[in-house]
Amino acid sequence: MLKVQNLSFKYEKDAVLEHISFEAKQGEHVAIIGESGSGKSTLLKLLYGEYDLDEGRIFWKDQEILGPKFNLVVGYDFMKYVAQEFDLMPYTSVEENISKHLSRFFPKEAQQRVNDLIQVVELEAFAQTKVKKLSGGQKQRVALARALAKQPEILLLDEPFSHIDNFKKQSLRRKVFRYLKEHNITCIVATHSKEDVLGFADRMLVLHNHTILANKPPKDLFETPESHLIAAFFGEFNIIDNNIVYAHQLKVVAESKIQATVKASYYKCRFYLIEAILNGESVFFEHNTSLKKEATIYLEVEK
Ligand code: ADP
Ligand code: MG
Repeated sequence: MLKVQNLSFKYEKDAVLEHISFEAKQGEHVAIIGESGSGKSTLLKLLYGEYDLDEGRIFWKDQEILGPKFNLVVGYDFMKYVAQEFDLMPYTSVEENISKHLSRFFPKEAQQRVNDLIQVVELEAFAQTKVKKLSGGQKQRVALARALAKQPEILLLDEPFSHIDNFKKQSLRRKVFRYLKEHNITCIVATHSKEDVLGFADRMLVLHNHTILANKPPKDLFETPESHLIAAFFGEFNIIDNNIVYAHQLKVVAESKIQATVKASYYKCRFYLIEAILNGESVFFEHNTSLKKEATIYLEVEK
């Protein structure tokens, strides 16, 4: 399993990560979330051994992950990393990019693996296409398939679906994450999308202020958000009597002590998100119709 012990790191003067400790079991799926600049990509790069730590140690099973000072060739066979900026071989085909590192396999076996992976990332129609001609999202899918080609024990993914359009994203995400579970591959995903987390991640690690703010299953964090940052990750929320109240927990009633004035209604497919003014501040709740601007309404927090 992956063990991160008291890791601290800075690029220059300012600390990026301080005293980070966590573990991930074989086959476990851990999502790393946090605001832009919170250090998600940096943490993945450190796990990969791209930089030397200022403090702390990282282990995969009994193998210590060492930075460039102690390990001349960055990276290990059991670990693959798909960066936010993926680099492929532009003038060779999708197939060749994926199969590049498969020389130790027999040709027939290698071809079968490449075909399987091309299916996982839904690029059947582009197998022979030169990577140069692909869109950003298609290149990202090639990079994913290439990382999986040699069956790593642990896979580090940085915003893996960020370049992929919404039409493809849902099915692709299911296929990739299912593939990882079926092959018992540990997966650490840096993301700002709750879609990458819900239904897939066993645990969600929240980075804030250089350190780990929370490390729990997504369901626990959704049901008991320990901070505004965590609540905001899941959706619109309000602070009422010092409590975090999600928009779906606030209901319109005939009469209550909470009186507000409707400001705007936003169509959200299965409901409208209503913005109303309560004591001079915006509150948000879900409602099955739009509401008239300036209408007076009464709200109640669902028990
Ligand atoms: P995230 O992926 O969560 O958006 P990053 O890990 O990319 O965050 O960045 C964390 C912090 O480190 C930011 O303040 C960023 O500006 C800084 N940083 C990232 N890469 C470098 C680098 N190569 N050199 C110096 N500072 C960097
Ligand atoms: Mg990043």
